[in-house]
Amino acid sequence: MYIVLLGPPGAGKGTQASLISEKTGLVHISSGDIFRENLKNDTPLGLEAKGYMERGELVPDDLTIAMVKDRLSKSDCKQGALLDGFPRTPAQAAALSAMLAEWDKAVDLVPYISVPEEELIERLSGRWTSQTGRVYHVKYNPPKIAGRCDVDGSPLFQREDDKPETVKNRIKVYFQQTAPLIDYYKEQGLLVEIDGTQSIEEVGADLLAAIEQVK
Ligand code: ADP
Ligand code: AMP
Repeated sequence: MYIVLLGPPGAGKGTQASLISEKTGLVHISSGDIFRENLKNDTPLGLEAKGYMERGELVPDDLTIAMVKDRLSKSDCKQGALLDGFPRTPAQAAALSAMLAEWDKAVDLVPYISVPEEELIERLSGRWTSQTGRVYHVKYNPPKIAGRCDVDGSPLFQREDDKPETVKNRIKVYFQQTAPLIDYYKEQGLLVEIDGTQSIEEVGADLLAAIEQVK
């Protein structure tokens, strides 16, 4: 099953993707995590993506699509994947459909996690991330030991692009370039809206129920 998690930055896509991946065994693919890994390792892709990420802009479609296609073509994605942060433009959505069609697959479900804009800034400014990709929040989802990841005890860090000016730009970019995908997937009958203002557990339960429906 191929699931696309849609929603603005801070909606809870990464948080839920980790939980669902643990419960269903679906591989969690976060385009942002792959870019950050490339940045950390100074790869040519990381160097190309760096400026866009620092400004809170989208990395160009050609680079992003090639990167995700490469990841999705790996054997662990043959039975499905949980996409978090991709697609983010109509061109990326069309490319995803085309690559899946090449492999006789298709997008099965697009949960759209909706959260009002006012809440996103508070969520992103309190977000702490682990090198394992786990996401915490100082108030809403604190780690068991302050500053340490629950899974491997590694130190947590705040993302550079979670500073207020960059966050504002990322939200603007979301409304301009990604929000049109809500209608795109609605027209295909794939969209299920989930109330992202609920607790992490409640959002997770709604998502699992939506997945059960299409199994
Ligand atoms: P996204 O991947 O959509 O950008 P994250 O999963 O990183 O969002 O979540 C953004 C921040 O909001 C994190 O600090 C996370 O702990 C917190 N968060 C996620 N879901 C909820 C929720 N349902 N209620 C309150 N805070 C949440
Ligand atoms: P995220 O971790 O999803 O918040 O993404 C962090 C940053 O990585 C974004 O602000 C973009 O600069 C870049 N990025 C991640 N996914 C994409 C995508 N699908 N298209 C373009 N840029 C992306």
